[in-house]
Amino acid sequence: MLRLRFHGRGGQGAKVASRVLGTAAFLDGYNAQDFPLYGAERRGAPITAFTRISRDDIMERGLVSDPDIVIVMDETLLSDPQAMPLSGLKKGGIVFVNTPLSPLETKEEYGIEDHVITLDITKVSLDMIGKSVLSSLAAGVASRIAGIGEEALKGALEKELSGIISDRDLLGKNTEAALYCYNTLVPVQVKTAETIREKENVITLPFETARVSSPAINATGNTPLRRTGNWRVFRPVWNYDICTRCMTCVSRCPEGCIRLNEDGYPYADYDNCKGCLVCAEECPVKAITKVREIHSRSEEGDQ
Ligand code: SF4
Ligand code: SF4
Repeated sequence: MLRLRFHGRGGQGAKVASRVLGTAAFLDGYNAQDFPLYGAERRGAPITAFTRISRDDIMERGLVSDPDIVIVMDETLLSDPQAMPLSGLKKGGIVFVNTPLSPLETKEEYGIEDHVITLDITKVSLDMIGKSVLSSLAAGVASRIAGIGEEALKGALEKELSGIISDRDLLGKNTEAALYCYNTLVPVQVKTAETIREKENVITLPFETARVSSPAINATGNTPLRRTGNWRVFRPVWNYDICTRCMTCVSRCPEGCIRLNEDGYPYADYDNCKGCLVCAEECPVKAITKVREIHSRSEEGDQ
């Protein structure tokens, strides 16, 4: 599987770039996922978007914390401590940077040790489209690095951009600029360990202590680091007079956030319980009731 992460600023088109790449990969016969993470939603704020591409089914979900390829659409993000575009990049991975600098100059300027590819796509956009809109160009660059075919890229540009750009002339210019970027880059092979391996069948889960009976997802951006407790409308509340300690709720909780108290009875870590109430649905003796969050605040700490 190839995992790509796009870093741009609000308004530059990182989300659309990841979307075009995902569609191009799909048209080229791959399975694909693409999705954005906005953070502070305002123009100019750091934005991240992700694409996964694989010949096999993609079972992985969530943010890409260990990309094979990073697309940096705005050079200033390389020195932005909030963005950290190179974090988690796999050994043997590739960094694309939108800059007038050469790859060597970019490596020296930002102290990058990984393989760097550069192209001033802002200049290409200004020259060919007449304004700085980078989504299609970044998609062209990413498609080339990911090894996606040119016809698939063309199809994806038409499909995705025609829903956003009604002006056919502007759409044509975007496509032309994207294909220019695609054909300007020399293809490079991604050499991360996973892309070299033919097929990955083993999933490694971190060891958990006996008191946590379901696997927790410890990667950055996931439970328990990303707290989902404030998503709740209803919270699960346990009735220990009925509970048989069968542990069904513990094993069914998708957040892995049900713990055991000193007597071996389950309770929810409300910082991370998102209130899906799967636990209540699955409890065979109906020992879990749903209590509206607004009514339960005064009883905080009862469990
Ligand atoms: S409500 Fe959902 S997230 Fe919360 S403990 Fe139950 S299963 Fe887990
Ligand atoms: S599923 Fe119900 S009975 Fe089983 S441990 Fe959970 S609350 Fe108790």
